[in-house]
Amino acid sequence: MKLIIFGPPGAGKGTQAAFIKEKYNVEHISTGDVLREAVKNETEVGLLAKSYMDKGELVPDEVVIEIINQKISGLGDKGFMLDGFPRTIKQAEALDSALSNQNLNLDTVVLLEVDDEEVVQRIMKRQQIESRDDDSEDVVRNRLKVYREQTSPLKDYYSKKGLLHVVEGVGEVSDISKRIDNVLKQFD
Ligand code: AMP
Repeated sequence: MKLIIFGPPGAGKGTQAAFIKEKYNVEHISTGDVLREAVKNETEVGLLAKSYMDKGELVPDEVVIEIINQKISGLGDKGFMLDGFPRTIKQAEALDSALSNQNLNLDTVVLLEVDDEEVVQRIMKRQQIESRDDDSEDVVRNRLKVYREQTSPLKDYYSKKGLLHVVEGVGEVSDISKRIDNVLKQFD
């Protein structure tokens, strides 16, 4: 299976991605994880990315598109789940061409929907546990703004392609997993 999971920051993508990976045996590709690793290792990409990530801004499209192209080209036939990519229409278009170059198609796109105030509260909680640099309240609010302006247009983009499934991301984690599973089992 080849899918995208997206939603606002703090929607619970990471938690649900772990469930999907386990159940459907897909490769989990998270641009956020790749970038955090690059920041930690102080690579050239990491040093560039950090200045954007710290402010809750998107890292430039070219940088993340390059990361994804490399990841996808190494996958062969294996199923995958993209988490945190694409985040702009330009990235979505680049993904379309990367996939079509390899004769691959997406099966589905899952949008985990959670409203803004819930997101801010969740991330404040997460900050106490994980202390991510990009989890302060101002940065969270900026990430939400960026999400609304740059990422939410993907909803229309994938809806027009007939790929979008919206899942309510509020409630018990296991209930949300069940909702996602109900969508994904059609494509297994
Ligand atoms: P995430 O863990 O997915 O919330 O990503 C953390 C941060 O990494 C984001 O706030 C962005 O600064 C950066 N990032 C991750 N994925 C992308 C992407 N596809 N495009 C641009 N920036 C990204």
